[in-house]
Amino acid sequence: METYPVTPDGSKPFRIRTDASSYALGAVLTQGEGPEEHVIEYASRLLIPAERNYSTTEREALAVVWALEKFRGYVGSQEIITASDHQPLKWLISIKSPSGRLARWALQIQSFNLKIEYTPGKANVLADMLSKPTNLNEDDPCDIFAVSADFPVRKSKDIRQEQLKDEELKKIIDCFENSSKDESFGNWTSRSYLMNQRILYRYSLEVETEEAQLVVPFQERERVLQQYHDVPTVGHYGAEGTYNKVASRYYFPGMRKYIAEYVKNCPDCNRYKPSNQKPTGLLRTPVYAQRFETLAIDLFGPLPETSSGKKWILMVEKNLYKMGRIVCP
Ligand SMILES: [Zn+2]
Repeated sequence: METYPVTPDGSKPFRIRTDASSYALGAVLTQGEGPEEHVIEYASRLLIPAERNYSTTEREALAVVWALEKFRGYVGSQEIITASDHQPLKWLISIKSPSGRLARWALQIQSFNLKIEYTPGKANVLADMLSKPTNLNEDDPCDIFAVSADFPVRKSKDIRQEQLKDEELKKIIDCFENSSKDESFGNWTSRSYLMNQRILYRYSLEVETEEAQLVVPFQERERVLQQYHDVPTVGHYGAEGTYNKVASRYYFPGMRKYIAEYVKNCPDCNRYKPSNQKPTGLLRTPVYAQRFETLAIDLFGPLPETSSGKKWILMVEKNLYKMGRIVCP
């Protein structure tokens, strides 16, 4: 399976592969069968303390429900196959009279066009990778790999090392790890910083509350922006769009301003849109959060006039499906 995300095909069913460890959830949205299966989107998040107390089956069910919601914009009412190495949905559906969160989950999954598939261990490697510790040796039993869908080969140890290279982040980390929790510790926690498995995160109040954002060290800011703005699968969103994408996973002080500057100075953006207008859909291949988000409209002509006096073609294209409507005015 190739691992680089591609744009979805509106005619094929989706497959969601999920997995849950005791710390985190991982999910991958794919399309295609066998060797043709390719990744549309990745997601992972840490579990909040209450969720860590769930049973394995409950966590697996949570992973599916969470992943479905996460990818709702892509899948809509199209068929989705869920694949996981436990059978959380069968379990969820089989409960006679579910209550509380289980009832809520059961209701939630009914709004999708689901097909359930059982995938024993191996086939689910990709989702596993996003939710399981990469390094389980004795020296470092807590080394986990949780919020790192964008750094598929990075270990938490390396992420920590990079964070420590940033003077400002080092100050915060030292403060968290200092046994005498002084004033400044309270200061950082009140600013929503937290340590998880020796890595610094921050809960952003502006995005989904359950997900902690990885704090990006100074020297890696540009690389994150490249991933979220420059690569063809992301497609040069404007400042706000880029910010929203980055902010769902990462944080660093002054991020909004940094991103605005980055986008303003992006050579490609400047070449294609000298004004401040949003880029048109036809020049780019952005990833759409939901259907009908973007319509590409083009007027083609003038052509030789028809017998009824028509000479222009107006093309309206819903980008996600590449379905066009042609109207001759
Ligand atoms: Zn750009």
